[in-house]
Formats: sequence, structure tokens, C-alpha cells
Amino acid sequence: MSVNTVEIDKVLERLALSNEKRFNAFQVASLANESDPLEVNEYLLYKSEGKFGALTAKIETLCVNNHPDKHFELGTVLPNYEVECRICDSEYVPDLEFAHLVFYFREVYKQEIEKKNDEIQNESGKDVLVPPMDEFMTLARLLQSQQLCIVNGGIHFMNGEKFSFNNVNNPVNSAVSFGDESPNTVINVYKQDVENVTNDLLALIESEISDSKVKNELRELIEGAALESGSKEPKPAILRTLIDGTKGIMTTIVKSPALLDAYEKWVQFLQDPPTL
Ligand SMILES: [Zn+2]
Repeated sequence: MSVNTVEIDKVLERLALSNEKRFNAFQVASLANESDPLEVNEYLLYKSEGKFGALTAKIETLCVNNHPDKHFELGTVLPNYEVECRICDSEYVPDLEFAHLVFYFREVYKQEIEKKNDEIQNESGKDVLVPPMDEFMTLARLLQSQQLCIVNGGIHFMNGEKFSFNNVNNPVNSAVSFGDESPNTVINVYKQDVENVTNDLLALIESEISDSKVKNELRELIEGAALESGSKEPKPAILRTLIDGTKGIMTTIVKSPALLDAYEKWVQFLQDPPTL
């Protein structure tokens, strides 16, 4: 199933011309007569990428009374302290479970569309009847469908880089029961585990190593390896090269037993992922 991107682009132009600021995939799907808001969402995420993107994707947190409240860029870690809802003043800790995805136009895109419109003076009206945002594109749903993933606590667009581990009967982390979980859940559990193991390691590196150059190099290699291990088709040679790079530094520089222990665990996890 795919979406008509030409139609969606037209809808976006009309929204920009009618000065709509914030919208989500359900609204765009409705205006473009698309039946699958999730697919539309993926296209909107795609249009939010890179320096030539037209849109900016933002995570919007919901307060305990379900008010759309604070905005965060993709990739940022949500605050783990209480914030105050701008509508009802209630205090709440932002939670991925109670958050959804909205989009804004980038200023440069708006300017380009307005300029183009002035030149053509087309009659495809500035007024567009935008449906209310009465459905939220929740982060839970987007993580489940693997459009988004969590890396180092921040939410990122996966852009087709989906995890390929889809059947597990020999989990490395036996604390997790795999039983009759769906493959998707298993994938997300694996993703979560890689992330947890990687985060533990990065935290120790942060506290145990003082040389910032070494620290940065390790961080780069480790994050690269974790991403590669979770990519659609992990390439063993690349993964091995990245891990070997960390080994060199680890064995010569690191003395902390706790760090070496976490490192061993991480290497084992990445080299022996829970697949069939
Ligand atoms: Zn509120």
C-alpha cells in the first residue's frame, strides 16, 4: 500500500497558504483522501528530514487531562521532571505513552509556496476546510509500527531502517518472557534491550573515562555499532569493524572493572542477537 504523494504535496501547499500551523497525519490523510494515516505519517516524517525538508516533526506531550501541551524536537530526550500544562496548570512528567506526533511548516517552505502562489495566482483557493485534530498519532503506535525508534532516550525517524529480528526462541535477556508475544513486540523488546545495554555502557564511559577525545571516539563507535545491529539488514563486516574499533581502545586504556564488564555484555549482546 502506498500513498499519492503528489496529492499530499498539494494538500500541504494549500495548508501552508491558508496559514495552518500545526497538523497531523490524520488531518492530511482526510484532506488528501488517503485511507492509511500511518502511511501518510511516514511520508510526512520523510518530508521532515534533512536540510531540504519542508516540515518539522515535533513530539507533543499530553497532560493528565489529555491537553496537547509541550513540544519537543525528534531526537531530544523528554524531561524526567514535572512540567506544568499550559492549559489546565496540572503538573505531569512527560511520558512517551502520552505523546503524539505533529508537524509544522518550515519557514523557508512557506516562503517558497507563497512566492509560487503569487506568481501563478491560481484559484485553488487559499481557504481549506481543515478537519479538527480529533485523533492523535501516538508515539506508542509509531514505535510499534517502527516508523520511530528510541536511540539514547531520544525519538528518531527510522526511515525504512526496520529491525529484521523477527523470531526469538532463545532470548539473551531471560528476564523478558517471549512466550506468545507477537513478532513486533519481540522486535521492540530487542530494540529496547540493545538500547538499554548500550545506554548502560555509554553512562559508564561518561563517568569512568576522563579523556574527552577517547570518550567521543568510543561513543561514536558504540552508537554506530548499535545502529548497525538494529538496521534492516545488519552488515556483519561493518558491525565487526565497529566493535573491533572499540576493542582496541577498551583493552589498552580502560581499567575500570565495571566498565569492562558492561562492555563485555554489550559486545556479546550485539554479536549474538536473539534470533532463531
Ligand atoms: Zn492540561
